[in-house]
Amino acid sequence: IFADIQIAKPIEVFALIADYNKDEFKEKVNLSVGAYRDTDGKPWVLPIVRRVEAQMASDPTLNHEYLPVAGLVDFRKAAIKLLLGEEDSRYGGVQAPGGTGTLRLAAAFTKKFFGCDTVFVSKPTWGNHKGIFSDAGFSNIVEYRYWNAEEKGLDYDGMLEDLRNAPPKSVVILHAVAHNPTGVDPTQDQWEGIAKVCREQDIFVVMDCAYQGFASGNLDTDAWSCRYFKDQGFEFFICQSFSKNFGLYNERVGNLCVVAKDCDAKMKTLSQLELIVRTAWSNPPNHGARIVATVLNSPQAYEQWKNDIHTMSQRILLMRQQLLSKLKAIGCPGTWDHITKQKGMFSYTGLNAQQSDMLLKKYHIYIMKSGRINMCGLTPANIDYVAEAINAVVTE
Ligand code: PMP
Repeated sequence: IFADIQIAKPIEVFALIADYNKDEFKEKVNLSVGAYRDTDGKPWVLPIVRRVEAQMASDPTLNHEYLPVAGLVDFRKAAIKLLLGEEDSRYGGVQAPGGTGTLRLAAAFTKKFFGCDTVFVSKPTWGNHKGIFSDAGFSNIVEYRYWNAEEKGLDYDGMLEDLRNAPPKSVVILHAVAHNPTGVDPTQDQWEGIAKVCREQDIFVVMDCAYQGFASGNLDTDAWSCRYFKDQGFEFFICQSFSKNFGLYNERVGNLCVVAKDCDAKMKTLSQLELIVRTAWSNPPNHGARIVATVLNSPQAYEQWKNDIHTMSQRILLMRQQLLSKLKAIGCPGTWDHITKQKGMFSYTGLNAQQSDMLLKKYHIYIMKSGRINMCGLTPANIDYVAEAINAVVTE
């Protein structure tokens, strides 16, 4: 019975990583991966995570019992406070396997209880958004304009115009900060305009917050958009991931934050989300959530974590500045200032599919077809090589 199954299309980012690992070219560079890399291009375990893991390993009170269906209470509470800056009985959280798990919960809930069938995603967006919502039963996946290729910035007017055409019972996914893949975020004034349209059209907002701390290096600054929607009285979901800001990619740590109009509405919503969890994964994994809870609930550990975030965000900023100045210094045609204007881990370079392909085939620089690069794939050792190669494919 399996013989007639069609082989699935490879997932671009994982296929690139596999090819990169096989490549024996000495100067190969991986700019495709969606994870932080240190100055030597190596995965980085945050020092605070190492420290907490060491404590956990020798803590006799810890065991491997199931967590509650909705997850670790200390984790969920602290995660919400980190995001919204305060506690309130109308906020609640459900732990899930990564940001992906929280998105899946948001999709299942809005389908089941609001009868939603249409989801608006930015054009472009993180590759998994469409699949998550379509697998959850959304039949209408609509892209709203976002990236203005000419200006290499936000197509704000196009975005609002598209959202104004949203049919009833639409969901919109908004990237709270450090938009993936473009690195282009709305300004505060633009967020106000976006909120206004969501209100007018009665669109249900799902904020995707996977990079808190990565845009500005400051956790509060990066939570601005989520706090704004909360202050405006929206009832909405925030899909919170700790994969990036704690470097806990494979531990699958996420929190679906529910902002409801009051405690009663929140309790009802959480109870139904628990039922969705029960049939999906029954209860979430412990290890990563316990690390996050330990750090967020200890003032001293929290300070150390902020230093680690600073280390990551500063290195990314430095690579942005250096890539820009190297491209300028060698006289690479075109404008490249967007590299330092964009926020977070990624830069949407503006390189087209053909140029990206040439970087891959001729220079062994692994880059997504869209021209998205992970800034931390750049290191002091490879940045000259990458700048020269970009110049070569642009002038070809
Ligand atoms: N949303 C966005 C915008 C992302 O970039 C990612 C991770 N690449 C996620 C959600 C999912 O994060 P996680 O790995 O925690 O599932």
